[in-house]
Amino acid sequence: DLSGHVAVITGSTSGIGLHMAEGLAANGADIVLNGLGDADVIETERQRIAETHGVKVLYHGANMLKPDEIADLIGFTARELGRLDILVNCAGIQHVAPIEDFPTDKWDAIIGINLTSAFHTMKHAVPIMRKQGRGRIVNIASAHALRASPFKAAYVSAKHGLMGLTKTVALETAEDGVTVNCINPGYVKTPLVENQIADTAKARGISEDEVVRDVMLSAQPTKKFVTYSELVGALLYLVSDDGANVNGNAITIDGGWTAK
Ligand code: NAD
Repeated sequence: DLSGHVAVITGSTSGIGLHMAEGLAANGADIVLNGLGDADVIETERQRIAETHGVKVLYHGANMLKPDEIADLIGFTARELGRLDILVNCAGIQHVAPIEDFPTDKWDAIIGINLTSAFHTMKHAVPIMRKQGRGRIVNIASAHALRASPFKAAYVSAKHGLMGLTKTVALETAEDGVTVNCINPGYVKTPLVENQIADTAKARGISEDEVVRDVMLSAQPTKKFVTYSELVGALLYLVSDDGANVNGNAITIDGGWTAK
């Protein structure tokens, strides 16, 4: 039961982040949504989650490429909801291209959103959690924090970096009741993955059906996409009292991908 807990989830207007936010709300947490998208659609989702689960749901539109806006997201959460118990860093983007064609602006954006934003959120959240004597930080990394795939130079670098950042902050907060971990999903059928199918087909010179079968699901021995509810289950464990000694580590939910 997470009633009385306050959670902020970056990148929660779509896909994994949205489902994680709803999973926390369904267990009684008040939440702050964040992410890009159409203002009306976001407001509809905000109201729907609040009404369905009877919790407070706020939205803050911080751009994860802007350190000042990220600082404001954390300050806003503590100010408006009175505390900060759970931080989920989920904002992320992808770009698929061979290294020699990889656009430098895409490299910068992926490192900024998928890695550096978590540095900024944690920098501001840790002092609040430490003061409270308890906190849970969950970084949504990836199987690509542990394994590489061709044509994903920036993404694989950012996710490996996020795992390192997670371990480092976990050591710094270990005596303060604050844990820091990753959840490493394999392929989940979110908008991010749907968009990547066409790009991967182009980069590899194969059809979109072949990308799903021979690239994505062939990486996962179960031959199934990871589901939202499997990820939410791991999140609820990590933020629970029973998760107190899981620290600086990762729960990898990848159908056996990284066993290979
Ligand atoms: P998605 O595209 O559905 O959602 C991404 C979210 O990040 C959206 O809410 C979007 O608005 C937000 N975002 C993007 N740029 C932003 C910015 N500059 N500022 C603020 N918010 C921004 O993607 P998803 O598949 O749900 O991915 C969520 C996370 O899970 C990412 O970190 C991704 O790397 C990771 N992940 C996804 C998969 C997968 O198979 N889908 C696998 C492993 C890891």
